[in-house]
Amino acid sequence: MQAGSSAAPTLLRSTGDVLEFAYDGGAIVYTYSGGERKFLFLKRREGWLDIPKGHIEKGEKARDAAIRETFEETGLRIEPERFFRNQSDYWFKENGKTIKKKLTVFVAKTDGAAGVTVSREHVGHAWLSFTEAMEKLSFENGRETLKAANDYIDRIETMGKLNADYAKLPSEVRGWSLSKRLVPGEGPLNAKVMLLGQAPGRFEDEQGRPFIGASGKLLDRMIETAGLARDEAYITSTVQFFPPKNRVPSDEEIAACRRFLKRQIEIVDPKVVVLLGAVAAGELLGEKRVMMTHGNVVERERLYFVTIHPAAAVRLKKNIPLMESDFEKLKALLEAQDSK
Ligand code: URA
Repeated sequence: MQAGSSAAPTLLRSTGDVLEFAYDGGAIVYTYSGGERKFLFLKRREGWLDIPKGHIEKGEKARDAAIRETFEETGLRIEPERFFRNQSDYWFKENGKTIKKKLTVFVAKTDGAAGVTVSREHVGHAWLSFTEAMEKLSFENGRETLKAANDYIDRIETMGKLNADYAKLPSEVRGWSLSKRLVPGEGPLNAKVMLLGQAPGRFEDEQGRPFIGASGKLLDRMIETAGLARDEAYITSTVQFFPPKNRVPSDEEIAACRRFLKRQIEIVDPKVVVLLGAVAAGELLGEKRVMMTHGNVVERERLYFVTIHPAAAVRLKKNIPLMESDFEKLKALLEAQDSK
């Protein structure tokens, strides 16, 4: 944190107390030591523990500020997880002013625990386990953020192990005729919405990412119609291996992938699973007739929302308005969920 640096954007108000809003970026940095997960904290002169954080400078995004501040305050170069961000507000007194800080925190793993060199604004550092940190952190918002980060790291690791097993499936199933390359899901592992397609196409197989071809472009548009950005949703498919010639996966192939999909849904634990087309709807609801059921919500252990597969709308343009109207309904459903 540089003294006197300008926060961007800053909104000044003066009602009674001098009140200022400032925007900060920070990082929860973790490592493993003796098999235990440890988090990096900086000791402030005032006696409390902090994470590396500071003002978002002009031209920076919160992520850039988190990377820069971590380097300035600890000497560590970090690459934060792409899909985790935690936002919180806290109050701060500086030069007689009450400042409301809006803090965005990222999570990053480091192997450089031994190389920490703290800046002069701190008096030392500590690597603490989750339990130790929860006992020592002075502020509620700090504990809440750490809890969210620790939970997210658990999900990263659980999903990583699961997908490593899933990637071995082609070598375990006799007569496997799909691609041997797993195209894993993409997005926040704590997303409120999961979008579930059929199976990756050739382009997805080549790039190892879901929904990035023509269907993916249309899906991105639909996600926006639902009031979301693509990187706010978890995107995956019922079968996560490319079936040759884009054929529909067989019942046996869907069954072989079932336990992985079930576990992936449990890990992300979304409020709503959007079923894109007959394969996804058949797998999770046992009902493949999506042209009759699209736009409907089914409540089970979570909510399922049925719509058309984007490939069907790319092929047949008259399906696009149907899909648009479904995603407008999805927007209303998500807003209703948020206000609960
Ligand atoms: N269609 C799907 O069902 N999944 C993809 O990843 C791409 C196209």
